[in-house]
Amino acid sequence: MAHLNNEKIRRINKVIGDLNMQQDSDFPETSIIDVAESLGVSLKTAKFKEDNIAGLIDYGEEGKGAIIFVNESNNEKKRNFTIAHEIAHLLLHPNNGARFKVDRHDFQNLKTKNVMEEEADYFAAELLAPEHKIKEIMFKSKMQEWDLVNFCSAYFNVSKSVISNRLKWINT
Ligand SMILES: [Zn+2]
Repeated sequence: MAHLNNEKIRRINKVIGDLNMQQDSDFPETSIIDVAESLGVSLKTAKFKEDNIAGLIDYGEEGKGAIIFVNESNNEKKRNFTIAHEIAHLLLHPNNGARFKVDRHDFQNLKTKNVMEEEADYFAAELLAPEHKIKEIMFKSKMQEWDLVNFCSAYFNVSKSVISNRLKWINT
């Protein structure tokens, strides 16, 4: 998360807070699919020629009727994260007239990311697996790291690598 300073994090946390307030959403109880739909974003699964494409956004005509396509060969946890990541782009990053945005990278590969990708990943992780909820589980359960990763991955319905990254983030 080399590009994320406190100011950027505060800004993203505010967007997440506003979204949860507007949608009356509370993750992990709320489904990201429902949030996408109530934002007017259509969701589709697609077969991509390149398997390293996690998802893409079709911004639609004049910014209306955005569609998020997710890779059908990814499992549900990964697809959920992709949906949240693409919603982040829609809420945080103007498309500047571009019709499509393709997310080709592997979300877990943090080394080569630009600032928008880091912001979208942070947004997705904090929306789906909020830091304060992970901390609550950590302090109440006193689980060891590996048990905590397994438990939180199932509880928040995100991959184990997303939780591992969250724990690293929380512990630094
Ligand atoms: Zn992205």
